[in-house]
Amino acid sequence: MKLSTLYRQKKPVISFEIFPPKSTLPVESIFSTLEGLIQLNPDFISVTYGAGGSSRERTKEIASKIKNQYKIETLHHLTCVGHSASELRQIIKDLQAENIENILALRGDPPAGVEDYDFSQCQFEHAVDLVKYIKANSDFSVAAAAYPEGHAHCTRLSDDLNWLKYKVDQGVDFLITQLYFDNRVFYNFLENARRIGIKCPVAAGVMPVINGKQIKRIISLCGASMPAKLLMLVDQYGDNQEDMEKAGIEYASRQVEDLLRNGAEGIHLYTMNKPQQITEIVKNVGLA
Ligand code: FAD
Repeated sequence: MKLSTLYRQKKPVISFEIFPPKSTLPVESIFSTLEGLIQLNPDFISVTYGAGGSSRERTKEIASKIKNQYKIETLHHLTCVGHSASELRQIIKDLQAENIENILALRGDPPAGVEDYDFSQCQFEHAVDLVKYIKANSDFSVAAAAYPEGHAHCTRLSDDLNWLKYKVDQGVDFLITQLYFDNRVFYNFLENARRIGIKCPVAAGVMPVINGKQIKRIISLCGASMPAKLLMLVDQYGDNQEDMEKAGIEYASRQVEDLLRNGAEGIHLYTMNKPQQITEIVKNVGLA
């Protein structure tokens, strides 16, 4: 099913994000994660592409398994950085052959360790170029990324929002936001997006903080800010894995509850491949 159709029919759409195991691990190591998440009956599961050193082929393999064996809808992430048009043509063909109908079109980050990477040398410089290419060459439903606090490298929030509007206007069916920890940030972003005419559904990206050290690294990469309340929890429990996990699940549950109360169109949980914690959140908020 095309997710563009699903977002028209259902509110909120509940989705989970997973990443393929590192190439040093067998691909099967993701299956227990998937089985845990599928019990929760999500509307779709998205699979990241090339993030964290995982092999790109695995994204297709896992997305295909979700769709064709578990019979759950899937969203295949795809980055255009470093890809040529002929490579993308082949990828699109391969996804069609697997009956995959939805792509999250992304630019991607610079290759690891390369400073001052020049995106203008790429055949596809921005995600919008990939959106246009997919729309012109296939009938995939296309999602794109949005950044409630601005992309980590943007210099002005208003520019970021205007580029987002341009990207959406080229055929994006729905948006998924970067993780953030204060719903007011999301509501402000949504209001501004609607004000400049971004009309497509926007799913709110929520990630439970379950590891004090890891979260500081993630935040430094994605640019999300930490509200004082969460910072205090990390300071208090960050050194104790069990307590941090409890506090992080509770915090994310309150965030999701508030989004549900305020009529969110979609809630996208960054699972970090941890089905138990996601199960607790889903139960806490009455979605199970
Ligand atoms: P773009 O939309 O191209 O935006 C990047 C920057 O360029 C922004 O600052 C924007 O304002 C600006 N910009 C956009 N268009 C133009 C233009 N036409 N001219 C000038 N400036 C412009 N990364 C992975 O490697 N794999 C994944 O699976 C993955 N999944 C993700 C899922 C989500 C929900 C999100 C939010 C991010 C994900 N990322 C992933 C990270 C993403 O690849 C990076 O954040 C990347 O740096 C930007 O990608 P983008 O698609 O947002 O790029």
